[in-house]
Amino acid sequence: MIKTLNHLPHPHEDGATLAGHFSDLAPPLNDRQAHLEASRCLYCYDAPCVNACPSEIDIPSFIRHIHTDNVQGAAQKILSANILGGSCARVCPTEILCQQACVRNNAHECAPVLIGLLQRYAVDNAHFSQHPFQREAASGKRIAVVGAGPAGLACAHRCAMHGHDVVIFEAREKAGGLNEYGIAKYKLVDDFAQKELDFLLQIGGIEIRHGHKLGDNLSLTELHQQFDAVFLGLGLAASKQLGLPHEDAPGLLAATDYIRELRQADNLAQLPLADRCIVLGAGNTAIDMAVQMARLGAHDVNLVYRRGIEDMGATRHEQDIAKANQVRLLTWAAPEEVLLNAEGQVRGMRFARTRLVEGRLQTTGETFELAADAIFKAIGQAFDGAALSDPLARELKRAGERIEVDEQLRTSIPGVYAGGDCVSLGQDLTVQAVQHGKRAAEAMHAQLMLNVEAA
Ligand SMILES: Cc1cc2nc3c(=O)[nH]c(=O)nc-3n(C[C@H](O)[C@H](O)[C@H](O)COP(=O)(O)OP(=O)(O)OC[C@H]3O[C@@H](n4cnc5c(N)ncnc54)[C@H](O)[C@@H]3O)c2cc1C
Ligand code: SF4
Repeated sequence: MIKTLNHLPHPHEDGATLAGHFSDLAPPLNDRQAHLEASRCLYCYDAPCVNACPSEIDIPSFIRHIHTDNVQGAAQKILSANILGGSCARVCPTEILCQQACVRNNAHECAPVLIGLLQRYAVDNAHFSQHPFQREAASGKRIAVVGAGPAGLACAHRCAMHGHDVVIFEAREKAGGLNEYGIAKYKLVDDFAQKELDFLLQIGGIEIRHGHKLGDNLSLTELHQQFDAVFLGLGLAASKQLGLPHEDAPGLLAATDYIRELRQADNLAQLPLADRCIVLGAGNTAIDMAVQMARLGAHDVNLVYRRGIEDMGATRHEQDIAKANQVRLLTWAAPEEVLLNAEGQVRGMRFARTRLVEGRLQTTGETFELAADAIFKAIGQAFDGAALSDPLARELKRAGERIEVDEQLRTSIPGVYAGGDCVSLGQDLTVQAVQHGKRAAEAMHAQLMLNVEAA
């Protein structure tokens, strides 16, 4: 349990009622709805939706399969480009990716083709008697993958397909990365992350070793010696700090820590509830945190951001979800002081009002206070540098705090690749991580086969 919130009460509703508040945010399409929606696709030549999909799914092609009642074929098409197509269908911000690009996304058409829901329909309704992808002949090569998040899993699956043997080293008890521990509970319901993992592992040739942490009981030096290639899919394991006094006070914590507990809880009624809470941040994590607290029964949920609404990282769709859940969005306010009660627990926060002066954010001199039983920080994730502490790992070139890679996901050390949130390429999205993992696997395979031919 989250020790820093031990002093708080539990939700008023029972576990079963609360579970009902965390059911599917976007319910699936039925057969008829899917068929009708598929018929809206124009099967565009050089389809803009495909260009907008980070994992390059052939969208018109899978939609055509749905339209011709070939759900199996549709799923195979999706999964051949994105082996985590089931979770991406649920968590992708399609409103800024494929659906934004869809030619039907204009005032005359009412809405874009609902690509995300069609993708979910295909993957959920395809019933494969065996894993849809076969392994190539054994290559005799061994690949180490560090981190079993979307990037690491996608890399492992593609390497296994090419006949390589893969060992995934994962620090945590369960695989899945943020699909298991981070994504809002109402986006990935019914243990979907573990079901998708089981499906992915059916390819064979992938072993997962839990409790192995790079920079702790595992070093890049040993992996580099023992394996033919290494992929780092470490994600962003640390949370950014406010840099204010009392940051460790009971009642103040990273939103991701609470979300992790919430996702793993068997009974939501056992969680601590902050009836009045403040969420600091402006991205999707902040929205997820605020909405989940509201759904647990909090009455006063304030999401506070130091800039304006148009600067928020959260998409308009996410902001609408927050508003629909009675989350109050307060902008132009920067955290100034954590306010404590006589027991040293959080009782609120003082904010400084802000404004832009010649493009620079400044405080106006005006302040205000908000009462709160807990404050959740959702001001961004950071790379955990401790993972790269052994002599070889220290040699990895960095782009800022993250690992530097080229277009083929190669790091500065030959044979070591990296992808997902821990690198500086692209956006921090599940679908982007999957694409990195897939592309890194292809690059590794090409290099390993080149070495075989040259030998
Ligand atoms: C709260 C939250 C909500 C989000 N919601 C969405 C969303 O709705 N839609 C979306 O597209 N994206 C969302 N994202 C972003 C998305 O989850 C990430 O972009 C994606 O998970 C990145 O995948 P990854 O494999 O790079 O990293 P991760 O998913 O973080 O996986 C990294 C894995 O590496 C392991 N690991 C870390 N360090 C070590 C080590 N030293 N040794 C061994 N193993 C290690 C971790 O335990 C983990 O299993 C969200 C992110 C957060 C934080
Ligand atoms: S842009 Fe829209 S209409 Fe065109 S192929 Fe993609 S989903 Fe179909």
